[in-house]
Amino acid sequence: MGILSFFFGSIAVAPDRADWVRAEQFAAYIKTAPYAALATAINSALLTYAYWGESARSVLIVWSYSALLMACYLMINSMRRTASAVISERILNRIALHSGCVGIIWGVLFAVLLTSGDEQGRVLTGVVAAGMMCGGAFFLSVLPKASFAYITPMALGVVVGALGAGQSAFAAGAIMIVVYALLLQRGVTWLADSFVSGRIKAVALAESSDVISLLLHDFETHSSDWLWEIDADGHLNRVSKRFAEAVMRPRETLEGEHFLHFFDDAYAEQLQEMFDHQRPFRELIVPVEIAGERRWWSISARPQINEADELTGYRGVCSDVTDAKAAEAKIAYMAHYDALTKLPNRTTMTTALERAVERSKTAGEQFAVLCVDLDKFKSINDTLGHPAGDTLLRGVANRLIDCVGAHDVVARFGGDEFVVLKTRVEDIDEVEFLGDTIVDALLEPFDLNGQQAMISGSVGIAFAPKDGDSAEVLLKHADLALYRAKSNGRGRTQFFESSMDEEARKRMAVEHDLRRALYEGDELRLHFQPLVHAATTDVIGYEALLRWNRPNGDVVMPSDFIDVAEETGLIVPLGEWVIRQAIQEAAHWTHKANVAVNLSPIQMKNPALISTVVQALAATGLPPNRLELEITESVLMQETDANLKTLHALKDLGVQIALDDFGTGYSSLNYLRAFPFDKIKIDKCFVEEMEVRNDCRAIIRAVMSLAVSLGMRVTAEGVENERQVELLTAEGCVEMQGYLYSRPIPCDQIAKSDAVASVIAVPADTLKRSIKRLA
Ligand code: C2E
Ligand code: CA
Ligand code: CA
Repeated sequence: MGILSFFFGSIAVAPDRADWVRAEQFAAYIKTAPYAALATAINSALLTYAYWGESARSVLIVWSYSALLMACYLMINSMRRTASAVISERILNRIALHSGCVGIIWGVLFAVLLTSGDEQGRVLTGVVAAGMMCGGAFFLSVLPKASFAYITPMALGVVVGALGAGQSAFAAGAIMIVVYALLLQRGVTWLADSFVSGRIKAVALAESSDVISLLLHDFETHSSDWLWEIDADGHLNRVSKRFAEAVMRPRETLEGEHFLHFFDDAYAEQLQEMFDHQRPFRELIVPVEIAGERRWWSISARPQINEADELTGYRGVCSDVTDAKAAEAKIAYMAHYDALTKLPNRTTMTTALERAVERSKTAGEQFAVLCVDLDKFKSINDTLGHPAGDTLLRGVANRLIDCVGAHDVVARFGGDEFVVLKTRVEDIDEVEFLGDTIVDALLEPFDLNGQQAMISGSVGIAFAPKDGDSAEVLLKHADLALYRAKSNGRGRTQFFESSMDEEARKRMAVEHDLRRALYEGDELRLHFQPLVHAATTDVIGYEALLRWNRPNGDVVMPSDFIDVAEETGLIVPLGEWVIRQAIQEAAHWTHKANVAVNLSPIQMKNPALISTVVQALAATGLPPNRLELEITESVLMQETDANLKTLHALKDLGVQIALDDFGTGYSSLNYLRAFPFDKIKIDKCFVEEMEVRNDCRAIIRAVMSLAVSLGMRVTAEGVENERQVELLTAEGCVEMQGYLYSRPIPCDQIAKSDAVASVIAVPADTLKRSIKRLA
């Protein structure tokens, strides 16, 4: 404790409170000031009376008396001036100054009276001095500075006077006075400190009670919550207006009603248990029935205990959380169900699968995961619109539900992807039967808002526990089986086989490496295989065939990577590269042979295809009619209109269009009428078997005659021996391609090839003539 705080107090007052505290101090001082003035006057009068008649002293007394009056005047004056003003530090300092002045006047008086007076007078002066000091300290107890300024000169006056009297008893009295003065001032400091801290506490309390009442008011007016109160027996007390509104009943009918009557038995019991154990509780969510409607309340409360430690009841808040609860339920629903079909979603299916896996491990249950995918969903969406697509998906969902048993689960994973979990399987035949049932069910026509639509679906099946021991693996395997089902021709069922895993891994590796080969490596090459005029063995053109030379020296054939490139979309940049490269090579050929480039159906969908072709032709100056683009029938099967538009645009450029692999797949002579092809390429499978199978020859004959009547050229692919040449020539086929003439060769061998003497593009009318001749 510092010397200053010993004399003047140690309570630190926050700046924003200081004015207020000073005002309180000032008010307390003003209250006592008149009594102080009165006491001073009485003391002055007593002393005047006691020393009356002693001339020198009388002058002194008159002086001190008038000085006293002046001090009183100053005090009253300062009171008047400051009564209603803000009390600054300066005003308190002025009070201290006045008190100091009064103290000095008295101190001087005491000193004079004590030095010069007789024994009796000294005793009287001592008594008055002690009384004045104590009284002053009492009246100035809230203002330690003023009290210090007042007491100190008085004490000094007494000390000086007592020492001046020259008696040892007075010296002892002087020491006592000093000790009293110190104690008095210390007492004042204590009183002042406790006054100030008391006032500060009072302010804080007043403020906080203001805040509480403000908050309560706000709660009552703005909050949707309400307060409730029950007695020790659970009966409602002082029912609030809002509570009455919440239960939709008049307030007076609620008073005294048992609180638990609002709740179902189970919840009432739960609450009763809280009450019995006098437990506080927070945000207990309970249902209530109000006007026939089920609502949800969130209740919080704490027990009320009296001084005798007895429960007097409960008090708390309550709010209606029905909307929040509904939103929560909706979110929970959305997290687990598909909004369109109302089927469980992937999350729910995964959980169901995990349970099935668990049962399979513990109870040996067999089950199956069936991945179902619609084969032509996208085209339905594109042609009939999304509302029709949505109707179709709902229809599919219903049919799938009809196909499965009560313990099975049907889920939609998004798009046209559905997954069925068949549980409790005794025999794998049941699964196969279900797969076939689903395929058949999907083949039935759908009624889409008045329009009939035919689709088909493929099913991939994983059988557990044989094909996997986790939900993830089973789904992956069923998906691989589905992939195989689709690539095997759609509308079919396929069980998972372990080899599919290995294939999938290979596919991923191929994709990764192919991407690198395309964008970073120099690993792609074009080989060219000549198309030959059978009679003259002149080369008419070359077909560009892609080769992938891997860094390890392996040469990968297209059959091993074109599929992956198509699945991943890599075929688009890959195909562009082939187009540019083939055209660039052909532009260098001195013999002016045609160049044929294979186009994937995926490339046909790419809007940049035409500009790629145009740019490549323009950049090299290759005449468009030297470029042949080979497409397969599948191009005419999907998105026919858009693809036909692209084909016409290419043909308008002067580019020739060939129908490749004719006779495989869905082969229909109708495709030949769909577009004015420049050429048909008869697939090698017919050529291969034409020596032994008459039907193959018949087909070739039919194609030849149709081509002639439509003005199209024909190339036979896969010609490997002279006998085939003979038979094909007999059918009127002139252009041939096959190992008999040449395998595909790297481009640098083309220019050197002596086989290429001259090049004749055989016009259609020459062809017609030669066929007539043969017939
Ligand atoms: P494709 O268009 O039918 O090409 C002819 C395929 O038959 C070539 O196989 C060729 O080497 C092979 N071939 C030629 N003569 C004979 C023969 O006498 N006997 C037998 N058995 N085969 C013969 P390749 O080069 O493996 O190409 C396979 C397929 O890959 C091509 O079939 C084509 O569909 C596709 N392909 C190749 N290059 C490209 C390309 O750049 N883009 C696209 N989209 N597909 C390509
Ligand atoms: Ca081809
Ligand atoms: Ca072909």
